[in-house]
Amino acid sequence: MENVAGFFAPLLVYLLITGLHLALPGRWVEGYVTKTNSTEKLRYRLNGLPVLLGVVLGWGICCHAGLLSWDWFFIHRWYALAGAVTFGLVFSFVMVLPYPAVKSSFLVDFFLGRADNPQLWGGRIDAKMWLYLAGAVMLELNILSFAAHHYLLFGDQASTGIFLSAGLLSFFVVDYLTFEEVHLYTYDFFAEKVGFKLGWGCIAFYPFFYSVPLWSTAALPGKPIPVAACMVFVLVFFAGWGLSRGANLQKYYFKKDPDRVFAGILPETITDGSKTLLVNGFWGWSRHINYLGEILMATGIVLCAGHPAEPWPWLYPLYYIALLFPRQMDDDKRCALKYGPLWTKYTQKVPYRIIPYIY
Ligand code: NDP
Repeated sequence: MENVAGFFAPLLVYLLITGLHLALPGRWVEGYVTKTNSTEKLRYRLNGLPVLLGVVLGWGICCHAGLLSWDWFFIHRWYALAGAVTFGLVFSFVMVLPYPAVKSSFLVDFFLGRADNPQLWGGRIDAKMWLYLAGAVMLELNILSFAAHHYLLFGDQASTGIFLSAGLLSFFVVDYLTFEEVHLYTYDFFAEKVGFKLGWGCIAFYPFFYSVPLWSTAALPGKPIPVAACMVFVLVFFAGWGLSRGANLQKYYFKKDPDRVFAGILPETITDGSKTLLVNGFWGWSRHINYLGEILMATGIVLCAGHPAEPWPWLYPLYYIALLFPRQMDDDKRCALKYGPLWTKYTQKVPYRIIPYIY
């Protein structure tokens, strides 16, 4: 029965998230992408942080009352993963089958999706925002439960690094939900459709794979990490966060108000008269410094976990490399088409793709 409960746990968590997302107050914002065949921008209702708080509080109360053990999601992680994989597949079919074909191959349509930005009730629920919210909250439950497992196993001998790693991963989740609106201006919203990649990716892959630094180390005896090393690892994480969040915010403010000064940086631009590109600050160091930031954050999380010789935790930053390097190339092609000669001018001015002076 416990294993069956483990299998259905992600589905129950996703239902709870949906209920809270609908019931809790949210703020309406205008997004970046427009409705199909219209210049009217899509609107979204955002309340990620209160939903996260509600679910984590609910989880804490259940654990405190003895209804769940604090490490329940760790103990049943394989069954929960199987449930999330299954539910993610079902969700992908539901999101693809009702829409007209885009490509001649069903498999391609299934993987990439057919609908651009499906919404229910005028944006009260947006498929993409719901997916990211569901994935982030489920990930946080895994993080907390995996860290709890380590503590329950080792007590006083528990490794500080595991808690530091869990803290940084939690920071990553809270940071995303704090800046939900900024996410509306990203590639997923203007360039991707809702299919297996995004649907299954957020329901199954995101909450379970992103916890791999803890999944693979929570049951291992902790090794003491010198304080100075911990400080360097945390610094690596926050250097990455600064690059990623800084670049995203600089672009977000620029798109909303092109003259706005962000973090003391006055926007410097190049233009062809109708389109404009930022060429200074984060967008002057490389064309995707935010991707470097993401990789550094993942590296900091793995180093903090304290088992650098274990291969599994490293899957996390390696995954970012595998995801973001091809994505940069795709985005470059998309921008070359959209901006034409202006993009060539930008690539001459800012020659580095991701890592300044190296790549
Ligand atoms: P970007 O935020 O870099 O967006 C790229 C787009 O920005 C381009 O298509 C173009 O769109 C616009 N742009 C590019 N250069 C300029 C410029 N110089 N001036 C003005 N606009 C420019 O990429 P993503 O959307 O892929 O990523 C967003 C964030 O999400 C990043 O921080 C990334 O690291 C993060 N991310 C996180 C993941 C995770 O799992 N944690 C996974 C993937 C991404 P336009 O047509 O609007 O001009």
